[in-house]
Amino acid sequence: MSLKVGRDVSNARDLRVSLKRGAQCKCPQCGEGRVFHGYLKVRQSCSECGLDLTPQRADDGPAYVVILLVGHLVGFTLPIFFEAMRDDPLLVACSLSGLAVVLSLALLRPVKGMFVAFQWAKEMNGFGWRPSAQPVTA
Ligand SMILES: [Zn+2]
Repeated sequence: MSLKVGRDVSNARDLRVSLKRGAQCKCPQCGEGRVFHGYLKVRQSCSECGLDLTPQRADDGPAYVVILLVGHLVGFTLPIFFEAMRDDPLLVACSLSGLAVVLSLALLRPVKGMFVAFQWAKEMNGFGWRPSAQPVTA
């Protein structure tokens, strides 16, 4: 006798709602509990509904997305800053470097929350798999 393991399809997960909750660093399931413990460390479970958050595998994905976004934003503002401060290129470099650091730190947390929410909504990495209590006889 063994246990049947299957995907629970009865619980629909709205991607848009869960991404919005993830961007707010809230639990993708209930929208109340916090996802992070500290700046970027994901909690073991939601503090409100108890959703197990250990299946998440964000890894380096949020950092790549933030680098992509910040690189484009800073790259497109470079000509504007350079034209406005043409006489002082060091000021342009320092201003854009500071902007890049601030934007990166501001975006990393919500982007990681959205990664966790996306994985939960798409039932990736074990978020959707639950052991069924129904015994299967072979
Ligand atoms: Zn929750």
